[in-house]
Order: sequence, then C-alpha cells, then structure tokens
Amino acid sequence: PNDSAHSTPLLIKNLLLSGKRYERSQEIVYRDISRYDYATFNQRICRAANALSRAGVKPGQTVAVMDWDSHRYLEMMFAVPMLGAVLHTINIRLSPEQILYTMNHAEDIFVLVNSEFVPIYKAIEGQLTTVEKTILLTDGDEKTADLPGLVGEYEQLLAAEEPEYEFAEFDENSVATTFYTTGTTGNPKGVYFTHRQLVLHTMTQAGVLGGLDSVRMLGNRDVYMPITPMFHVHAWGIPYTATLLGVKQVYPGRYDPELLVELIKREKVTFSHCVPTILQMVLNTPSAKGHDFGGMKVIIGGSALNRGLYEAAKSKGMHLSAAYGMSETCPLISNGYVNLEIEAGSEDERATYKIKAGVPVPLVEARLMNAKGEFLPHDGKTQGELVLRAPWLTQGYYREPEKSDELWAHGWMHTGDVAAIDSMGFIEIRDRIKDVIKTGGEWISSLELEDLISTSPAVKEVAVVGVPDPQWDERPFALIVACEGYEMDAKTLRDHLKPFVDEGRINKWAIPTQIASVTEIPKTSVGKLDKKRIRTEIAEWQEA
Ligand code: ADP
Repeated sequence: PNDSAHSTPLLIKNLLLSGKRYERSQEIVYRDISRYDYATFNQRICRAANALSRAGVKPGQTVAVMDWDSHRYLEMMFAVPMLGAVLHTINIRLSPEQILYTMNHAEDIFVLVNSEFVPIYKAIEGQLTTVEKTILLTDGDEKTADLPGLVGEYEQLLAAEEPEYEFAEFDENSVATTFYTTGTTGNPKGVYFTHRQLVLHTMTQAGVLGGLDSVRMLGNRDVYMPITPMFHVHAWGIPYTATLLGVKQVYPGRYDPELLVELIKREKVTFSHCVPTILQMVLNTPSAKGHDFGGMKVIIGGSALNRGLYEAAKSKGMHLSAAYGMSETCPLISNGYVNLEIEAGSEDERATYKIKAGVPVPLVEARLMNAKGEFLPHDGKTQGELVLRAPWLTQGYYREPEKSDELWAHGWMHTGDVAAIDSMGFIEIRDRIKDVIKTGGEWISSLELEDLISTSPAVKEVAVVGVPDPQWDERPFALIVACEGYEMDAKTLRDHLKPFVDEGRINKWAIPTQIASVTEIPKTSVGKLDKKRIRTEIAEWQEA
C-alpha cells in the first residue's frame, strides 16, 4: 500500500544542501565584483526570501527577473520557487515588444530589473498589465532608479533582513519556473516546469555529468561557469546541478568574450556549456589565441556540434561533448557517451560519436515517428520526427491549448526535429523539419552540409538554407564567413565537397551552387544561426 502522507515531496529546497551539509567555504563568484562562500549563499537566499515576502510575494504569483548571468539570478532560481512562487526568466534579448508580450502573458507581478534594462523597462512600462512592484539590481553605486513601484535595491533589501527563513512544504507539482521559447515564428510560447520536474532533472543531470561518460564532466572539485544565458532554460539547469554538488561557480554577467577568457584563466574554470557560435566567439577572441585551455570540458548543445569546431577546440586543449535538448524539455534529453565498443575504435570514429546528439539519459524515452503517428525503426538510417517522453517535459504551452495539443500529439512530445537513431541508441539530429532542403525529390540535411563544409580550413562559419528554385523546388544556398587570408567561392566549395560525394556521404545535388561570402551570419537571441532571417536576407538580395 502506498501512503502519500509518508512520501517526501520533491522540492527545490531539498537540492540546497551545499553550504549547509557540505562545502561551506566553496565560492560563488560574480565577475570581478563579488565573491562569497556557500554558507553566505544559503543565508542570502533566506534574506532574499524575507525581502520578497515583505514586498508581498505570495505562493502562485509570478516573479520575473531581467538580468545577465549573475549570483543574484542563482539566488532567485532558489528563493522564488522555494517560496512557492513562479520564477519567470525574461529573455532580455527579445525585442521590447516581445518582452512586453511575455511579461503580460506570464502575468508577472514582481520584476527584478538590472539597471542596464531600466530604459527598456520604462519604454514598455505603460503597457504592462499585471506588474505591481519592482526591485533594482545593480553593480554600480547608484542604489535607486526611476522605476514605478520600486521597493528598493536588492543588496540593501537583503542587508536589512534576517539570514534565516523557514521554508514551507507544499505540493511537488507546483510550478516553479516559466520562460518563453525564442519564437523564430509567431509569438513566443511559454513553457513551465514544476518542482518535481526540476528536482528529477537535476538529480539525473548530476548523475550524467558526474559519471555516465568516459570523461567525468562535472565533479565537486571542478570550477563551473555558464556561457548559456540563465534566462534560456535555466542555463540548461546546470546551476541547480552545480549547486547540488557544491561546485565553485563563476557568473560572468553580460557575455564579453575577453572577460569570459579572463575569468576562465583567473578563476581556473574547468567546466562550461554553450551553443557552438558562442564557443567560436570565445576561441577567436585575441586573449584566447595561443592559450592552452588545459583539458577544460565544454558541453555543446542547442545546435549541432560540427567536426570543424570539435577539432579546433581540441587543438586548444578543450574537450567537447555534445548534448541535445530544447526549451520544451527542461532541457536535458541526450548526452555524448563513449561506450566500450566506441572506445575500442579509431580516434576518427570516437569523434564521429562525440559530435552526435548523444544517447538518451536515464528516465528519457526517445522514438522516431512518422506523420501518421507510427513508430519507425532505430536502424541508424530511417529518418523520422524525434518524439519524447520524460518526467521533465513541459506539459504544454501556457494558455495555448491548440499548440499544446500539437506538441503532445499521440501522447508523445514532438520536437520538430528530423532524426535517426542507431542500434546503440545514439540520436543523430538530421535537421529541423522546417530547415530540411527539399531538392529534386530528395531531402538534404542542412546540418550535414554545414558539418562537411566546416571541415574546410578556409571556413570560419557557415550556414546552409534552402532557397526556392523553379526547377528543383529548392536548392541549397551557403553563407560563409571565410577565415582570414582565405577566400571562398562556388568552385572552391565544390572542390572541397567533391570527395564526400565520391565517398557516398552526400549526393551531388547537395553541393551548393549558390554561395555568398559574408562577414557575419544572422543569429537568434541566444546565438544560434537564424535560418528564418537568413532566408529573408537571401530573398532580398535575389530580388535586388
Ligand atoms: P530555438 O528554437 O530558439 O533554437 P531551443 O533552444 O529550444 O530554441 O532549441 C531547440 C532546438 O535546437 C532543437 O529542437 C534542435 O533543433 C536544436 N538542437 C539542440 N541540440 C542540438 C544538437 N545537439 N544537435 C542538433 N540540433 C540541436
């Protein structure tokens, strides 16, 4: 018999053991501005909870944050849900109109605003329908701002409160966090996660990063710094995991490549995670030139890890491993894994597996589905839409019943990604359904083309999209940023890709006949290739 009265709810407060039970003196660092130990961190969470309660925060209400990656953000990731309130992590890189949309849609009542975002906040303030109170976050000396409903400045509010708080117990299925997808089409959509989901995600992530690979990615003697925004899927949930493990954490504020490299060197960062374009930016910054990253481990996700970047990072002493996930999935779904069979193979084979999207982590089920809702075989060749089940997937889009039904059609969460799964369980993302290039009745994966093109020494960055073609339906178009001292034209590209055609990796129709050499490729608010904008730009060039 199961007596729920005797079962412990899975609550975020139960993840907060470091500083109380373990590792009191381990540090949390914010740029070159502040540093304190985990014991202080626990006290600050209590002080913040007292301050938020005094300001009127009640369970079930939404508290929003507009900040760069900071120790304050980490404190809010704990304090807000621990009060039973919902943390809305605002994507500050969206347009002001979209920020306004998400704040009204999420029904934010309290907002913590970094002084840098006061101008944006003031510009939309008149149209905010639910906000009542604001708190100022600042690195500067100016402790006040012209913010409507201002309760006070964060540090001053914390200083005035007691360092203890008795956090109540409540239903583990209470919503803890919410945020909005980056919305490359239409309005951003709200996803949400409960305490139970975040606890299970954190426990699993700790197990995966701590042991389920030939290289241990994160242990409690590592030094962690995110290079994935905390507003985007809670920086992949890794701050929760790092806190659980009592890891030294470094928060870099706004991403300035020179400062990131300086912090890596000075604080001896050994573990991070980011999207490929951001890593590229870090590796290309002047102070990274010639620097040996000494075995630093970096998880790459959010976009395909291509072979070119994998090798470039390796030559600088960085160990990369790919992972797959999305806003809707909390995000961890699968992670790079080298089993004994792969380990026994050649270096080249190992790298091939390292850059795939990995193997589903514990508690995740991944299948391939066709448009009729039928499952497809996992033979490494058959392609279908990747569909998922796991304890931590968003149960829908907030207040969007139709889109939620589509997301969960046939009882599985639909990713919108085309994938193949091999007999060892490795997922290979072939493309997003909407980015596949359909040419002459064939489907070409834009990701595979980008991967092959990236191996050319002349190529620094590449994006491939399908452009309409009267004869072939679509044709691949490559946008290329060439490395210094190199030039790229259609012929050089053809010569580079020809061997892959001969090997049978791609067919000859896949070779882009149209290419443009550019100095920059359009990116989304979180630094991914913005294929929608790229297609629009190409269409504009072609019209002109
Ligand atoms: P956005 O749609 O704004 O990029 P997400 O961050 O939710 O928002 O992106 C999730 C998508 O990123 C996935 O659906 C997939 O297309 C892509 N993605 C994530 N990880 C990988 C990976 N390892 N390989 C290829 N694509 C990936």
